[in-house]
Amino acid sequence: MWLPHPEDVNALMQSLWARNVAKADDGVLTVAGHRITDLVDEFGSPAFVLDVDDLRSRAREFVTEFSRAFDRVGTTARAYYAGKAFLCTAVARWVADEGMGLDTCSLGELMVAQRAGLDPAVVGLHGNNKSDEEIAFALDWGIGRIVVDSLDEIPRVAAAAAARGTTARVMLRVTVGVEAHTHDFIATAHEDQKFGLSLQSGAAREAADRIVAAPELEFLGLHSHIGSQIFDKAGFEAAAGRVVGLRAEIERAHGITLPEIDLGGGFGIRYTSQDTPIAFADMADQLADVVAKACADAGSSLPVVSFEPGRAIVGPAMFTVYRVGTVKPVDTGAGIRTYVSVDGGMSDNVRTALYDADYSCTLANRGSEAPPVVVRVVGKHCESGDIVVRDEYLPTDVTPGDLVAVPDTGAYCRPLASNYNHLPRPGVLAVEAERVGWAVRPETYTDLFATDPAFAGTTAADTDAH
Ligand SMILES: *Cc1c(COP(=O)(O)O)cnc(C)c1O
Repeated sequence: MWLPHPEDVNALMQSLWARNVAKADDGVLTVAGHRITDLVDEFGSPAFVLDVDDLRSRAREFVTEFSRAFDRVGTTARAYYAGKAFLCTAVARWVADEGMGLDTCSLGELMVAQRAGLDPAVVGLHGNNKSDEEIAFALDWGIGRIVVDSLDEIPRVAAAAAARGTTARVMLRVTVGVEAHTHDFIATAHEDQKFGLSLQSGAAREAADRIVAAPELEFLGLHSHIGSQIFDKAGFEAAAGRVVGLRAEIERAHGITLPEIDLGGGFGIRYTSQDTPIAFADMADQLADVVAKACADAGSSLPVVSFEPGRAIVGPAMFTVYRVGTVKPVDTGAGIRTYVSVDGGMSDNVRTALYDADYSCTLANRGSEAPPVVVRVVGKHCESGDIVVRDEYLPTDVTPGDLVAVPDTGAYCRPLASNYNHLPRPGVLAVEAERVGWAVRPETYTDLFATDPAFAGTTAADTDAH
């Protein structure tokens, strides 16, 4: 098994946790000085706990380091927080305060951005199937960019802009045949997925020609997003070369300049001791050199370069706290496995079931002198795949009533949460040294039944009468 035996099962592996999380002398987990036992007494469990200062520092550091690195090679970097990783009004404000724009991909996400008071010029709209309503909202609000994802979309955005007597700023999402995951990437000519337009098949070039021909569209440049949880520059390097090459071809063919490229998100984080992310400063320096070299090779000018980090900004900033309900030793045939059941599960973190993701955890409400044992932390759902943490060491005396905290649940957990088995979704508790409160309040049973009118229905006669 990959999991190393812990020297001290009470100790936090600090690199897995938000920067203001620590353990007090008595073993209780603390966030910005608040004891988790007090927070759970007041606010309940399960809950996502957001270290606000950690989130803000990550956003600030990304902006600062990418600006510095791209400045060094003679251009400008911009960062758009990928709202799909986790979005609520407060988080939209915090990342914007730290100098990030915001990427959205639905009307709901656009509405959060507007509600948060963001400048629409720093907001982008993605999506492979944008509705008329979404395009209209984006244009009426004055959005900074729409990332075009299909040939069908081009005349629709152009017509919507024409109807408003305005122009739409667009980027074109290109699939460059590079798919990156962690330390590997695959570079092929073809790509079998729904996003973007293929560089290799000529579809991307065709789309670019149509955008250039549409007077209502202001063509900002090309966009590429190659994957997620990436730990090195190799995939970005391959993608940047292809994007910059196509950009040069379009510029030459039409005698225009495309001022910007976007290399997407996907920067990896540390979920367990096995993950080895690169610091923002180093990643920024490497990518600045990659883009500068690609442009030199293509004989083209340096564009403004934008990035769309989601997970790397919010993932490590949150953890989930659960209460243990049962502890069950199970004879697997190969030995005893201890199942620790908590008061949430796949309805608040589906990543373990969906992506086979690995997580860590710690006993959060006390220290223990008991020796460590490998446990499996599972939820309360009617599904055997309802696993939160597949393997982790906890003290052998873990018992019902204890609190268990799982780090790095900020990205793609609460946004993918469901009401499976009619569980209300947990809230997100924002914690600062001086202030604590809900960024997203937990759902209540009233919320749950608000969408269940118990079917009265209308008869044909009622319908005719109206
Ligand atoms: C998901 C996504 C991102 C963010 O990815 P992370 O892995 O969270 O950084 C950025 N851009 C696009 C287009 C995406 O679909």
